[in-house]
Amino acid sequence: MNELFDPIQADHDYLIHPLAHPTAHQHPKVWVAGRGAIVIDAEGREYIDGLSGLWNVNVGHGRIELAEAACAQMKQLAYYSSYVGSTNLPAIQLAQKLSELFYPSINHFFFTSGGAESTESSFKTARFYWKAVGKPEKVKFISRMKGYHGVTMAAMSATGLPAYWPMFEPRVPGFIHIESPYPYRFVNPTPHLSDGVAAANLLEEAILREGPETVAAFIAEPVQGAGGVIPPQDDYFKRIREICDYYDVLLISDEVITGFGRTGRWFGLEHYGIEPDIAQFAKGITSGYIPLGGIGVSDRIYEVIETVPPEKRWMHAFTYSGHPTACAVALANIAIIEREGLVQRAAEVGDYMLRRLQELYALPHVGNVRGKGMMAGIELVADTATKEPFPPSANVGVRVQKAMTERGLFTRVVGDTICLAPPLVTTYEQIDRIVSIIADAIEATVATT
Ligand code: PMP
Repeated sequence: MNELFDPIQADHDYLIHPLAHPTAHQHPKVWVAGRGAIVIDAEGREYIDGLSGLWNVNVGHGRIELAEAACAQMKQLAYYSSYVGSTNLPAIQLAQKLSELFYPSINHFFFTSGGAESTESSFKTARFYWKAVGKPEKVKFISRMKGYHGVTMAAMSATGLPAYWPMFEPRVPGFIHIESPYPYRFVNPTPHLSDGVAAANLLEEAILREGPETVAAFIAEPVQGAGGVIPPQDDYFKRIREICDYYDVLLISDEVITGFGRTGRWFGLEHYGIEPDIAQFAKGITSGYIPLGGIGVSDRIYEVIETVPPEKRWMHAFTYSGHPTACAVALANIAIIEREGLVQRAAEVGDYMLRRLQELYALPHVGNVRGKGMMAGIELVADTATKEPFPPSANVGVRVQKAMTERGLFTRVVGDTICLAPPLVTTYEQIDRIVSIIADAIEATVATT
């Protein structure tokens, strides 16, 4: 680096960051290196990566093998389009591999470069499907509050975090939200039914309100991630599947975070014993080493893609769909997950992480500790008896985050919920360290609030 180069000043002068605002970006960390569950900043300080980058670095940092896979493919053929008439070996091999790993009925795959493009692809495929089978009025999408599906126009319209909306409105018409199942706070309007069934029945109510003949699909993350790590009740998704089947509504599983081992299974809905009609993925497929996402469609949908007349074909495309280098890295990443047994490891270490985090209930203001595999949320509240949240003016989330960073844990806080999703290779000792840093950070901030 040239001596006159001040990276923080240049960052300020030239780079627009996601969710940009100067007050939220006063002391950015300049990340320069990583290995395993550790990331290192430009001052040489080490942090535990509590969120695996952005929920994606599943195999951990510093995997030379992935760099070598990219290098080998780039030397051979870095890029060629996979528009009809062209294909390439890594994309073919990856699609075939995914058909083994994904839900049994999902065997055909389309690749994108990330999560939001995958959401758009799912929505367009759902509309395409209903038009092709003679139900063209089925165009609406139902999603959940606290859900996150990306921020392109349609994805933003499905995302159930209202902070993302007002400055870009109007949202796309035809997007409807229902309440999150959020076990900690769900108020069951029908106490003779379980909370999970009651929360799922909100979907049925919304379908009936809109008219089943107008609804194309329901989209949901198996475990809500960016909304604050919210696993649903165990019986929620089984009832969701029944409702979707009954009203002819496609079920889109957004596995952008929950895919590729994160929850202790290859894919999130495996916990709940159901299959989606469309599964979308990104992040963990390459552990973030290179951008890649995509969707997998059920055999029933694929049959329609294959049999429509040419003028009605699935006219959907991205330049980087099936990017050979990205697909080669994905194959190498999946090989690591399989060779090192990281899905099983995520289940075991994740159980340990959740058990240890539950010890935090001994501290004041710890309202709810929840998780699935290597995902966890710790929700801090003003009053644990009434579950009353802290007032926004108390700035609890920001203060706790700062205290954790000072102690060597870098992660995200959503509202007053500390989110954790460390790499699947995180050691038991590192989990202990995470728990003790969080405990100290809570003691140092909210315990005295
Ligand atoms: N879906 C889910 C469940 C996500 O968590 C995210 C990103 N955090 C997205 C979609 C959007 O992905 P991207 O940022 O790659 O567009």
